[in-house]
Amino acid sequence: MVDRPLTLMAVHAHPDDEATGTGGVLARYAAEGIRTVLVTCTDGSCGDAPGGIKPGEPGHDPAAVAALRREELEAACRVLKVGDLELLGYADSGMMGWPQNDAPGAFWTTPVPEAAARLAELMRYYRPDVVVTYDENGFYGHPDHIQAHRITMAAVAETGIPAKVYWTTAPRSAMAEFGRIVRELGGDWDLPEEDAPPAEDAAAPIGLPDEEISTWVDVTEFGPAKYEALKAHASQSENIFFLNLGVERFTQLMGRETFVRVQDSTGAPVPEDDLFAGLR
Ligand SMILES: [Zn+2]
Repeated sequence: MVDRPLTLMAVHAHPDDEATGTGGVLARYAAEGIRTVLVTCTDGSCGDAPGGIKPGEPGHDPAAVAALRREELEAACRVLKVGDLELLGYADSGMMGWPQNDAPGAFWTTPVPEAAARLAELMRYYRPDVVVTYDENGFYGHPDHIQAHRITMAAVAETGIPAKVYWTTAPRSAMAEFGRIVRELGGDWDLPEEDAPPAEDAAAPIGLPDEEISTWVDVTEFGPAKYEALKAHASQSENIFFLNLGVERFTQLMGRETFVRVQDSTGAPVPEDDLFAGLR
């Protein structure tokens, strides 16, 4: 066995993704004595300013938003007991097609090898056994999520360090259930009806059929920590929906985190219920 702690590295685009996507596994594995490292690629400056002010609207100061979101991120890391937080510090690229995509320092237009080399350096330093990031569509098509995916896979290929690599995903069955709850609570998100045929012009669909999910991790015990971590990001209006669920309902909905295992040198059989199966 190795004489260093098992290490989980999660690579996320901007502050708050660590809470929604991987808050449960970060909290759970820290509690199990595994070292957790969070890499956040951008400053989140295209997020909401206080009062729900959107970028480009009067009163939205990107530098102030970045400073606030950094405080929120640090607070969330304290809740989740993240061992090490690493900030790559790229400028938030905003949503696909926004002018911020091409602004100086924007993550989306940073060449992949350049950003991947910085991440590879972090992988050589922390030597993560398990790396988690988004799928190639960035879960829902956000450019910085897609770029985080690309640099992570490039850094993994360059270093060959992690034994296991995962992409976050959601089971389609849970997406359907989630859509029902959103509609029931009057949410205005445009989520697909269960069994609805995909729209002709739809982007890659979110999530995976249940049978394609390799890894189901129960984080129910850490639902309250995940909820508190998200609460640290209360400046972002899209998080308010989740917070309005209350901690119990939130834990019911978000108390299981699912992944697809895309690289593995352990031979642990799938489906598995532990990102570290085969490593301890
Ligand atoms: Zn995000």
